[in-house]
Amino acid sequence: MRIDIDRDRLVETMEEQAAIGGTDGGGLHRLTLSDADAEARDWFADCADEMGMDLRVDAFGNMFARREGADPDAEPVLVGSHLDSQPYGGIFDGALGVVAAIEFVRTLDDDGIETERPVEVVNWTNEEGSRFPPAMQGSGVWAGAHDIEAEYEKTDADGVRLVDELERIGYRGDEPAEPREPYHAYLELHPEQGPFLEETGADVGIVTGIVGLRWAEVTFEGQANHSGTTPMRYRDDALVAASDVVTAIRRLPGSLGERTVATVGSLTVEPNSVNIVPETVQFTTDIRDPDESTLDRGVERMEAEVAAAAEREGVDYDIEHTMRAASVDFPDRPVEAVADAVDDLGYDGRRMVSGAGHDATHTASVCDTAMVFSVSEDGKSHTEDEFTSWADCYSSASVLANAALDLAGRVD
Ligand SMILES: [Zn+2]
Repeated sequence: MRIDIDRDRLVETMEEQAAIGGTDGGGLHRLTLSDADAEARDWFADCADEMGMDLRVDAFGNMFARREGADPDAEPVLVGSHLDSQPYGGIFDGALGVVAAIEFVRTLDDDGIETERPVEVVNWTNEEGSRFPPAMQGSGVWAGAHDIEAEYEKTDADGVRLVDELERIGYRGDEPAEPREPYHAYLELHPEQGPFLEETGADVGIVTGIVGLRWAEVTFEGQANHSGTTPMRYRDDALVAASDVVTAIRRLPGSLGERTVATVGSLTVEPNSVNIVPETVQFTTDIRDPDESTLDRGVERMEAEVAAAAEREGVDYDIEHTMRAASVDFPDRPVEAVADAVDDLGYDGRRMVSGAGHDATHTASVCDTAMVFSVSEDGKSHTEDEFTSWADCYSSASVLANAALDLAGRVD
């Protein structure tokens, strides 16, 4: 039997949170552990309090609000996302997942529904990673992917330590930052942040996994020299070698996999002067695909292109592999709970793999995990122009609520 969330209240709750750190451009500037983030956390705590939920804050600031189940010893179902935002980001990214989880519990209360399992609503610390690296930090600490002491020492652009900010805003909690007990499942609703759902005319995304990624930093070392007096045959130009690789990376996905994407997103040139042959160029490569062997082939091809470009131009090179995240396949049980909810509600759902990392990346190593995606208009994300219509917020939040209830087990 379905539950119906209150559409008007969902919109009101979205607007309430959007006012905290809201920008003139209609977006959100709520960097993790800032004053605005503290205010959003207080708001989350108030919501939990009003619902009579028990709130725990762990040593990394992750917040868990609990609604008991008929069987308090049953493994809980965890639902949520993050309330921090990118600098001048949108009001939906992260917040929609937290608000939908709150509305799910409010609906249970409204309808007097008891669940077999406890339900916990979570607000993860620092999903965005734009103030303190890395992204998905709070869930990563909780899942054991990062050492908490090392993450405490991370500093922002002003040299402020993360742990000091956590203490300053009063959200360094008493609980160890780790799963307190085994969890039955984790469900997260998030905007797609890409154009796939809109392009295919779908209402909602049934996320079956998250792509893996490989990051590297490449350095070419040539010879600086006068741009007027150095004949072309004498040049060891690091930027020319880098340019060959940039275009090779752009062409790489076409010959690898249908879903491969590859990017050179950052590049620095030294000495970076109009009349000097470039001596040192450093740039990053980012290759993503759902398939691990495709990723490995992508990295091999990137390495071969770098070596060939260095050889052609007569420059030295170095490749440092800076990050490797394995792709995640969500298990059938929670994915089918999402798919069943989509069917029950009569929506057009599309199965898809997430091209971005999420807190679900880390929870997947702790418990059965799945995600619901809402439509992102024009695929825009990490900008004030990010937009998901209220209709799409409602349909995706309804799917989340019904899938979560399915996993939590309704007591009749
Ligand atoms: Zn997000």
